[in-house]
Amino acid sequence: MNKPSKEIFDVIIIGAGSVGVPLSLNLAEAGLKVLVLDKEHSIGQGSNKKAIGGVRATHSDPAKIKVCLRSLDIIRTWQKTYGDDIEWHQGGYSFVAYQQQDENMLKDLVGKQNKLGLNIDYLDRNNLLEIVPDLNPQHLLGGTYSPEDGYCSPLLFLHACYRQAINAGAQLHFQEKVIGLLTSQKKITGVRTDRAEYAAPIVVNAAGAWANQISSLAGVSVEVHPDSHEAGITEPVKKFLEPMIVDIRPTDGAKNLYFCQHTTGQIIFCLTPSPAFKGFDQRATSEFLPIVTRRMLDLIPKLRNIRVRRTWRGLYPMTPDGFPLVGWCQEIQGFFLAVGMCGQGLMLGPGLAEYITRIILEAGSKQDEDILTYFSPYRDFDTQEKLK
Ligand SMILES: Cc1cc2nc3c(=O)[nH]c(=O)nc-3n(C[C@H](O)[C@H](O)[C@H](O)COP(=O)(O)OP(=O)(O)OC[C@H]3O[C@@H](n4cnc5c(N)ncnc54)[C@H](O)[C@@H]3O)c2cc1C
Repeated sequence: MNKPSKEIFDVIIIGAGSVGVPLSLNLAEAGLKVLVLDKEHSIGQGSNKKAIGGVRATHSDPAKIKVCLRSLDIIRTWQKTYGDDIEWHQGGYSFVAYQQQDENMLKDLVGKQNKLGLNIDYLDRNNLLEIVPDLNPQHLLGGTYSPEDGYCSPLLFLHACYRQAINAGAQLHFQEKVIGLLTSQKKITGVRTDRAEYAAPIVVNAAGAWANQISSLAGVSVEVHPDSHEAGITEPVKKFLEPMIVDIRPTDGAKNLYFCQHTTGQIIFCLTPSPAFKGFDQRATSEFLPIVTRRMLDLIPKLRNIRVRRTWRGLYPMTPDGFPLVGWCQEIQGFFLAVGMCGQGLMLGPGLAEYITRIILEAGSKQDEDILTYFSPYRDFDTQEKLK
């Protein structure tokens, strides 16, 4: 008996997360036959649903600034374009400075960021206190304010993208784990899952923290190493805080702290542990709450009576320098890498989806290629992102 022939797609995307779902929408809207495969039972069950929702174009390098400016446009206008409320709030971002070295670094960046089209200013202490009146004024030097950044619900946004992707003709299969990449003479020909085989001349690895496991199915290794971060959410209170606050001072047990007040009133917060928790373990720790609450109270003393409702831990798909890895795999023709989003996959996802679609359609401009050079999987990892 003949083996049943494989269903043929133009593009198969592995991973229905922050990158894979917006990408499926763009590719399907461009008229391609797209299949997305995810091992979990629905979209966003990897790192996407762990994100706290920050969307900023405030970065230290041109590529992330340009891509995230595009993401901001898409997210800001989503409700008008498609009708879904994704709990977007344009509250801005503020990187606060309580140390001279942070003030110097932030001021130095602002000029470069303005030149790249970012609406951002460095405010002195008094001007910043007008924007964030509850910030602890003691030793405050000032901080950046980028009013067009904001936050949304990661899962609501992904669900909205998912519905539009389905409307545009994309197919998404859940509880279907990719266990093999099919190749012939160093060209991708499809994928094998725990249920079936599918054929496609282009396969996109958008498997987030699991990216290296997927690439290694084709004998290729990618520099994506998960480390985990913890986050939490409080009860809702009356709105008093507009921007996302970012404090980059390292303290015992932690590096960056960031938090905002969601449109629904809760304070939602996240901390970068130090040293990093490497690996796939996602069990919440008992150290997190004492460290994070001490730091938040130091920044906004008014938070002292608020009650924390829930904490969780999730994976950052980290790269050695904090920049994503996006581009064609040189070893296997037709295999595209869209991985290593670190702590910024929600804010990079929709913008990157447009860039990747143009590259796949061979309609990329010189500017697209220049931007994606920064994210080349084959770069030397010799610089570091300043605003990780
Ligand atoms: C606590 C925390 C807070 C964060 N806050 C923010 C924030 O404010 N803003 C922001 O932009 N980012 C934030 N992030 C980072 C963001 O969540 C990630 O960068 C982003 O989700 C990565 O997107 P991705 O599409 O690469 O991976 P994911 O969203 O994880 O998607 C990858 C998908 O691949 C699937 N997969 C893996 N292996 C297989 C397989 N073998 N077969 C089939 N499917 C497979 C997974 O199930 C998963 O659904 C935060 C992360 C954490 C942990």
